[in-house]
Amino acid sequence: MQYRAAKGMNDILPDELRRWRTLEEAFRRTVELAGYAEIRTPLLEPTELFVRSVGESTDIVQKEMFTLLHHGDSLTLRPEGTASAARAYVEHTVFAREPVTRWYYLGPMFRAERPQRGRYRQFYQAGAEIFGDPGPACDAEMIDMLYRLFVGLGITDVEVVVNSLGSAGVRERYREVLREHLEPNKGELSEASQRRLGDNPLRILDSKAPRDQELVREAPPILDFLDDADRAHWDALRAGLDALGVPYRAEPRLVRGLDYYTRTLFEFQSSQGGLGSQNALGGGGRYDGMVADLGGPAAPAIGFALGLERILLAMNPSDDAKPSPCFIAPIGERATLEALVLARSLRDRGVPTDLDGRGTSMKSMLRRANSRGARLAVLIGDQELDRGVFKVKDLAAHTEIDVPCAAAAEQISELMARAPLEPAH
Ligand code: AMP
Repeated sequence: MQYRAAKGMNDILPDELRRWRTLEEAFRRTVELAGYAEIRTPLLEPTELFVRSVGESTDIVQKEMFTLLHHGDSLTLRPEGTASAARAYVEHTVFAREPVTRWYYLGPMFRAERPQRGRYRQFYQAGAEIFGDPGPACDAEMIDMLYRLFVGLGITDVEVVVNSLGSAGVRERYREVLREHLEPNKGELSEASQRRLGDNPLRILDSKAPRDQELVREAPPILDFLDDADRAHWDALRAGLDALGVPYRAEPRLVRGLDYYTRTLFEFQSSQGGLGSQNALGGGGRYDGMVADLGGPAAPAIGFALGLERILLAMNPSDDAKPSPCFIAPIGERATLEALVLARSLRDRGVPTDLDGRGTSMKSMLRRANSRGARLAVLIGDQELDRGVFKVKDLAAHTEIDVPCAAAAEQISELMARAPLEPAH
């Protein structure tokens, strides 16, 4: 019996993982410079948390949650990170200690979707939240930070799409407007949209079905229904983006798949990486009502989540340098003991070191040293030990020197610290 990973869930092997680390490090650097601190929350949360925050009528809650019953408790693998962050913010009464909180997170999320390119059942998100700041300046600041992160990663075609959904009352009213607009042509809508007309008509704006799109295009835009305070927020957000020079497109049909958004909504799209309709690399928005909904104070909030797999697909494949280790190849028992000690002293000095413990032929160990991209190979056999030396080969320059055993760790780490030599001709 051979086992395979579960459908829609992927292994990430070391060669690929180097690119992940590059991306994750760029993300961490970016958010930490902007004052966000990392949080880690459990992968499992009470199911009710997601029903309450993500929204009962969303695809996520209706059909994409991995839920398990454990001794009568219903637990769900987190499908996104914002609900957990808001839950932790309330649970630990963070609001009582500081007026504004900036948190970020990185980790796997789980949604039982139909797998395709850029859409998986376990996928990774990097996200951040700001609690306690109602001002549009932080909306603009967040969008600009992400725009620059994308461009810095080489995703130069990234498009910033923004919208405002107004506060909760506006959304309620707009739902009715949309329902009234679409009802007369209900029969022409796709099956899914006909169902959504009842429970969540805003999602029809997101439909990919051509006839749905036509019908929706004629609907009055949500921006026409903003109240004065929402409009002031929207205008200030755009002024902020203009001041920062962030190019953006205002798209009144942008809705996104989560129910909790209020006012600012944004998404980053790219056609690099051949993602087709999966072209959203990330997005977010305000959710000024969620903290109170989860039993906390009326704290405003805004956040985003980026999909790491999609960003990696959109980034140009880079030739991330593999580390070039020092490779130690001993033959024989005595040599292996010397090699163990040398490997440990080199690592103590910060030198990446491979130890080949197979005890096979020198030739096959050297072949492996080359395929590992080693800078130096240290050959240890009885002959060398009798002379009190190790043989050190520079694998790029094809040169060879003897190094006294007693000073080997020091000399080798000095050699490793030098720039690699040009190959000898
Ligand atoms: P959301 O949490 O739905 O706002 O999604 C934020 C980002 O996460 C999206 O723009 C995608 O880049 C990524 N994402 C969402 N769902 C998936 C999935 N099933 N597979 C891969 N990436 C996803």
